[in-house]
Amino acid sequence: MEKSMNRREWLKSTGKVALAVAVAPLVFAPLAEAGTLASKASVHYQGTPSGSNMCSNCANFVPGSTAKAMGTCKLVAGAISPEGYCYDYVPS
Ligand code: SF4
Repeated sequence: MEKSMNRREWLKSTGKVALAVAVAPLVFAPLAEAGTLASKASVHYQGTPSGSNMCSNCANFVPGSTAKAMGTCKLVAGAISPEGYCYDYVPS
């Protein structure tokens, strides 16, 4: 004898799927983002410029709220100083 799913059981099972679909991006997006950025050590990041080359004039730099505030980088993980520098420097 085949057991058929009643409406309540169907709602319970589809509700779990909908919840999983809604929560997955919140769980996996930060992990994926962290996985795509290089570590500071791997690009020899330093908190000081290399001559006139520095993060604030690098094409990969994303400035913070002010010119002197810590920003972020499109390639390197973590807070980035506008006066920093690394091997991935690209003049802007
Ligand atoms: S690529 Fe390197 S130099 Fe350029 S902003 Fe990122 S950390 Fe700074």
